[in-house]
Amino acid sequence: MRLELKQAGKVYGRGMERIEALQDISLVLSGGDRIILTGESGAGKSTLLRILGLIDRDFSGDYLIDGKNSRDFKPKELQKIRNHIFGFVFQEYALIEDDTVFENVKIPLLYSNVKRKDYKKEIERTLEEVGLLELMGKQARSLSGGQRQRVAIARALVNRPEVIIADEPTASLDSSTADQVLQALYNYLDNTKILIMATHGLKGKGPGNEKILRIAEGSISL
Ligand code: ADP
Repeated sequence: MRLELKQAGKVYGRGMERIEALQDISLVLSGGDRIILTGESGAGKSTLLRILGLIDRDFSGDYLIDGKNSRDFKPKELQKIRNHIFGFVFQEYALIEDDTVFENVKIPLLYSNVKRKDYKKEIERTLEEVGLLELMGKQARSLSGGQRQRVAIARALVNRPEVIIADEPTASLDSSTADQVLQALYNYLDNTKILIMATHGLKGKGPGNEKILRIAEGSISL
């Protein structure tokens, strides 16, 4: 998998309200890359993640996915990429509180090509990776913050995405819990997967071979 962003820019609003959130961002990412986006709040990290994750397609410049310009994707292709190629982890866990851990992790499978008879196997394998297998039957609302974030990670990983996009996944956690959560994410990575993670202060240890990319006022700063 190769992701190439060419001179991307993003402006919010218009006229007096105009905010230039990103300017001239060029990046090439390929299998095995682990990118940590750092920078102060408001620097443009989330905006960049939304562009890279094809959530926001209203930007200037080009974004090529395996050489194909994202502007040329048909709605079906877009949906397929969003559901199968990308896995998203956000600061807000957005779990279904009344459902069990198992049911929460199952949701993306409903939109995948995984056969119903394989759901259980896939969910259990992913919960094992994030260290939550024994909590499978618990209600989401009964879990701690770190456990909840690991459920959100399992939900992002259950479709075995090629690219994981994480926005401040440890922001509300203390540093030892943050370590566990990051470890759950790193366990999944191998030399084919791409990780793009934004954080305004890296809590916990990085995966070791990550590349730090600093964003300041919408630009990559060295
Ligand atoms: P970060 O993730 O680094 O905190 P953001 O990408 O959220 O930064 O924001 C970058 C800039 O764009 C900030 O000035 C922010 O206020 C602005 N911004 C972000 N989202 C919107 C939006 N939906 N509408 C208007 N301005 C926005």
